[in-house]
Amino acid sequence: MSKQKSSDIVLPGTILGVAEEFFPGDNVVESNGYLISTAIGRVRIDAARRVIKVDSFKKLYYPQLGSMVYAIVTSVREDIALLRIIGPRLDNYVSGNQYAGAIHISQSGLGRDVRSLYSVLRFGDIVYAKVISKSNPFILSLKHASAGVVLSFCPRCTNHLAKKKDRLVCTRCGYTESRKVSPKYIYQI
Ligand SMILES: [Zn+2]
Repeated sequence: MSKQKSSDIVLPGTILGVAEEFFPGDNVVESNGYLISTAIGRVRIDAARRVIKVDSFKKLYYPQLGSMVYAIVTSVREDIALLRIIGPRLDNYVSGNQYAGAIHISQSGLGRDVRSLYSVLRFGDIVYAKVISKSNPFILSLKHASAGVVLSFCPRCTNHLAKKKDRLVCTRCGYTESRKVSPKYIYQI
């Protein structure tokens, strides 16, 4: 049996070591006293905790309860908005990622006097929101200091809107509106 070292690249089925040496971590199973990789990836050994795991090259993203995600608004009604979840970052969008999200008006983050989600979100907006359920479709919330719209386009001229204090303004045509704007909004003036 060839013993694997940290950083070695392994395949599913590769024997990584024996169960007396390590506890199985991510992408590692124990079988007949052997520790076997279940993924293509790189071996990681945590000597202090005696855990061996494999960092898979295929990162399968799953929205975690309590985490923050980017999502694009696909429809808005008075009391609920539907979204498609992009992921924890905007620059690693994985197409084919089919997780859906929903924001209820009670999670608008703007208090009880908000009567309609039309004043909070719009079709095509990209929002930063908190995941507050465990399975698809995920319930999202804007009740978080960093949550809100991070990119929106002008309904009049389709230029991107810029954040100016708590409002969104179009630098081309002057259109202005209020929103639940995230401090992470992409264009700020
Ligand atoms: Zn405009």
